[in-house]
Amino acid sequence: MAKILNPDEYRKDFPILQEEINGRPLVYFDNAATTQKPLSVINAISDYYRHSNANVHRGIHTLAERATNIYEGVRKKTAQFIGAVTPKQIIYTRGTTEAINLVAAAWGRKHLSDGDEIILTEMEHHSNLIPWHMLAKERKIILKFIPILPNGTLNLDEFKNLITDKTRLIAMTHMSNVLGTINPVSEIIETARSKNIKVLLDGAQSAPHLPVNVKELDCDFFAFSAHKMLGPTGIGILYSKIPILEGMDPYQGGGEMIEYVTLQESSYSGLPHKFEAGTPNIAGAAGFGAAIDYLDDAGMEKISLYEQEITNYAVQKMLQIPDMTIYGLSRHRGGAVSFNLGNIHPHDMSHFLDQQGIAVRAGFHCAQPLMEKLGVTATTRASFYFYNTFKEVDYFLEQLSEARKFFKL
Ligand code: PMP
Repeated sequence: MAKILNPDEYRKDFPILQEEINGRPLVYFDNAATTQKPLSVINAISDYYRHSNANVHRGIHTLAERATNIYEGVRKKTAQFIGAVTPKQIIYTRGTTEAINLVAAAWGRKHLSDGDEIILTEMEHHSNLIPWHMLAKERKIILKFIPILPNGTLNLDEFKNLITDKTRLIAMTHMSNVLGTINPVSEIIETARSKNIKVLLDGAQSAPHLPVNVKELDCDFFAFSAHKMLGPTGIGILYSKIPILEGMDPYQGGGEMIEYVTLQESSYSGLPHKFEAGTPNIAGAAGFGAAIDYLDDAGMEKISLYEQEITNYAVQKMLQIPDMTIYGLSRHRGGAVSFNLGNIHPHDMSHFLDQQGIAVRAGFHCAQPLMEKLGVTATTRASFYFYNTFKEVDYFLEQLSEARKFFKL
């Protein structure tokens, strides 16, 4: 069957995919944790240091101008990539985690008070849980959770019952890093809109795998990380709407974010710089820009369709293996597939697969409350990207059958 995209056309751009692990060709199925990087990204970082390295915004010399152009150019590119109206809505952070902490600290502290309620879901990553725990310790804020159904989707009837006139924020993942579920965020945002509730989407798993348009979604905050979408680690984005950002105070103070300073006080610069204290990750931005170009060239629509094909194929075949449990069987899903095979411990499974050259993740995937809900302490997770092949999936399936024999199931 002809596929929507040919992964081999892309694989040659990723030097690490040529690696051998334990004498076998690498099969990299840990993409939900971080993705591999194409040469264009690696080169953009090294070219930046070779030809343009300087600090941004401050210097009136050629290199400072080059560095600033790269840094601000990528902000513009990122805005276009997610359909933001202006680059002023794009705040650079260290990643999704810092972006959500920024919202909790700078928006939450200012706008939430005792008795206010936040709705989260039972499938949140710890980075969209702990910042709210921390805020709830400071103020008497009530956290409520949309429960999940046995197939790993959200119980939307329950969601409607959780809303009260005290609900101020819904903060939820767009796509689960454990279950693969793509949540019906448009429906949820529509309900929130009618009640003047703000919505934060954790886009760590959606931005890399789906076409995202924040204007069409009409979310209030959208957070994501470059490293999960071919870019470098240590850089990510918080998107928000201009009036919301203008109504937030800075998260950190220091250089780059000020307008005027005296010994006693300071005034802040405008958007987006008031949220970016200190020398930023300029090389990271250079790499992120190349990553966005790469994804744009491949086409997010095609990437998402191919991932659906390869994931459906893997899931259907995995379900035919005796003793297999897959956690999350939503029809609308991305490429993260969590499973357990009989009583094989996920750490043993992951080690066994690593011996065969296959990289998967084992553990609680930064989602301990979800593990508790699923009644397990850990799962093994295979997660695909558009450079993964059906042949790799077949090899993985073969090795799962070998694992059954090895562990005497
Ligand atoms: N949310 C989700 C759904 C994730 O999968 C991850 C990364 N595993 C994060 C948040 C955190 O991303 P980062 O570590 O890049 O800040």
